[in-house]
Amino acid sequence: MHYFSTNNKTTRVDFRTATLQGQPVGGGLYFPEQIPQLPAGFLQSLNRWSKEEIAFAVMKPYIGTVMEDAMLQRIVSETIFFSFPLVKINDRICSLELYHGPTLAFKDVGARFMSRCLGHFAQNSSQSITVLVATSGDTGGAVADAFYGVDGVEVVVLYPAGKVSAVQELQLTTLDGNVTALEVSGTFDDCQRMVKAAFADETLSQKRNLTSANSINVARWLPQQIYYFYAQQQWPYEVPPVISVPSGNFGNLCAGMLAAQSGLPVQQFIAACNANDTVPEYLSSGWYQTKPAVATLSNAMDVGAPSNFVRILELFNQKFPALKKMLSGYSITDAETIGTIKKIKSGDDYLLDPHGAVGYAALEQYLSLHPQQKGYLLETAHPVKFDTAAQTGYKPDVPNAIQQLIGKNKNSIALRADEAALKEFLID
Ligand SMILES: *Cc1c(COP(=O)(O)O)cnc(C)c1O
Repeated sequence: MHYFSTNNKTTRVDFRTATLQGQPVGGGLYFPEQIPQLPAGFLQSLNRWSKEEIAFAVMKPYIGTVMEDAMLQRIVSETIFFSFPLVKINDRICSLELYHGPTLAFKDVGARFMSRCLGHFAQNSSQSITVLVATSGDTGGAVADAFYGVDGVEVVVLYPAGKVSAVQELQLTTLDGNVTALEVSGTFDDCQRMVKAAFADETLSQKRNLTSANSINVARWLPQQIYYFYAQQQWPYEVPPVISVPSGNFGNLCAGMLAAQSGLPVQQFIAACNANDTVPEYLSSGWYQTKPAVATLSNAMDVGAPSNFVRILELFNQKFPALKKMLSGYSITDAETIGTIKKIKSGDDYLLDPHGAVGYAALEQYLSLHPQQKGYLLETAHPVKFDTAAQTGYKPDVPNAIQQLIGKNKNSIALRADEAALKEFLID
């Protein structure tokens, strides 16, 4: 399998190069040159396959020959070692709980897969790799945890001081080892600007062998297909599901659409967005216009210029009518988000986090127009990570993984919000 750049289709690299580079030289994103078709027999007998076998079968065509099968088997089993239950909320809507991993967010899957791939590729390189990542909360925790203890890879996470939740800060700052947390006296935008400047600085970038770990990296993006197959294994109805994906950078949704083009049965996809409505607006008007991000309760989706949207267009050969047939978009307000959490907790005794609530509200609107259909939403984070008790009155249970963090010592390095400070730190 080779990958081309969405900016330049003559660029062709294998999975190893695409993973190590992250982004093609000259911009754009890497995209698989063909979409593998899963054998009909595989899909019909899905129930008989183990989680490991499914993950291997889905990922193998994308890896090609750059890795031995035994290594890929090991990587997938270290990636998906937790559960992915599809839970019935009521007669029409289920929740695919993607928060049973180490940092209680779906990003654990992509981050773990990518960390093991990079660790494997780093073995053949004399110089260690430094993963540099800016986080508004969730990404940094998943990346830090996934790379913790991986040989040959150092992780440096920048986060804005005082602007991540208490749980997220504990996840970022209690690991030590090969993970360093930089607490930046500024905003998430400052952190992102500093990271971009470090990547753009060629001497620095080469000296530290810098790479990024966000969802533009194919090794983080592609494994997100796997759990859509786990949902299909557990889907209780004859009709194919309507799938609602709480979306920010659109990596998760795009992975689902890729799985559907490989043969996964899907009735319709829903782009479930908060007030950041670039994609729902595009789907209703045909005009794609990015906007500055606005802050909402579902803050992991506060993105005005979603980086993976070019991949969705690529999947449909830039054909708007074909895309519109498979994808509907909804923008949900914070008031609707809170209203949904309260309604589903009091009516169905199920507690959603704000991202899942956006997914639920969007799915409910779609299903009200399509009475024969049923669907599920991706519950992308555990409610304890984005506690809404103050607004809803419902306090989430605190899972074990979090209880173990409470009381641990925070270990971070304070940093000024400027590019030079980060450069100085990285050179030392
Ligand atoms: C990252 C994140 C999202 C958005 O996922 P994308 O792939 O960027 O669209 C949604 N919910 C939660 C909890 C997240 O952390």
